[in-house]
Amino acid sequence: YAAKRYTRQSAWYNDAQEASRLSHLSLLSDLRSAVKASELQMWLQPKLNLQNGRIYGFESLVRWQHPERGFISPAEFIPFAEKTGYIGIVTQWMLDSALLKLHAWKQHYPDLSIAVNVSTYDLRDRSFPERVVSLLKKYDVAPHLLKIEMTESGIMEDPQATIELLNRLRDTGVGLSIDDFGTGYSSLAYLQKLPVNELKIDRSFVSDIQHADATKKLVRTIIEMGHGLNLHVVAEGIEQEQEKITLSELGCDAMQGYLLSKPLYGNSLQEWMHLHIPLSQKT
Ligand code: C2E
Ligand code: MG
Ligand code: MG
Ligand code: MG
Repeated sequence: YAAKRYTRQSAWYNDAQEASRLSHLSLLSDLRSAVKASELQMWLQPKLNLQNGRIYGFESLVRWQHPERGFISPAEFIPFAEKTGYIGIVTQWMLDSALLKLHAWKQHYPDLSIAVNVSTYDLRDRSFPERVVSLLKKYDVAPHLLKIEMTESGIMEDPQATIELLNRLRDTGVGLSIDDFGTGYSSLAYLQKLPVNELKIDRSFVSDIQHADATKKLVRTIIEMGHGLNLHVVAEGIEQEQEKITLSELGCDAMQGYLLSKPLYGNSLQEWMHLHIPLSQKT
């Protein structure tokens, strides 16, 4: 489905600068084979519950190890993948990898969740909820262990259509989360209608919280509003102990950031989990 969409939208590319166009096009054809060649990796960054001090889950973040270009950051290739529809391949691969991991954790870490980032392109695909359901079945994973993150600005591109799709997604039982909250100009009227259960405060607010009293007041208001809407409130990008303390005092429910851990992969992930997460007593 992604390839078809690519042809339809290729006009956008004809307007782009020749040099960058060529380099992006080759990047994208590489992306198609990247999945097959196992060049994509799913890194995981832990999330800490500030009330009980427990690790309750991870956010998945894609990494691309390109054979010639080396490491390509998601900030670099996700936007182009979104504009061409190739993002669908990335999303499907990340969902599959996340559910495979949740399946593998069933015995020793049965309560951990994984969040997958999706773009508005994914949400425009009306078969998206069915694809999620069939993957949950394939790996025999409880729906609430999977969380879907979409950015506030993405939701606001077409709030009516998105709300409809989010309602169908919510009916599948997966968790829904608004990412980068505070940067996307959402109207409070829409916020009330979104069938989500989590709100993630954007990193830009966190880095200001110690220096600007106005930011601290704003974050306090966001947390109170989130709680008023029955949402779990997570702060992103916590790097300093003092930021963690302040956010706890403000009543924030959970945190994520370099202070706790950078995104992890492979042996580092296993070692980190071993040190920080007690094994389930269930056998
Ligand atoms: P995001 O979803 O808001 O993810 C958080 C980003 O902040 C990640 O960058 C993460 O590594 C970084 N981060 C976490 N803690 C800290 C911290 O304490 N300090 C600082 N400075 N940064 C921190 P990353 O992995 O480079 O991803 C950037 C963005 O790319 C993500 O923002 C998300 O919008 C997008 N992205 C990443 N993976 C995927 C994916 O699989 N699918 C889609 N659609 N988008 C993705
Ligand atoms: Mg995210
Ligand atoms: Mg974010
Ligand atoms: Mg972001």
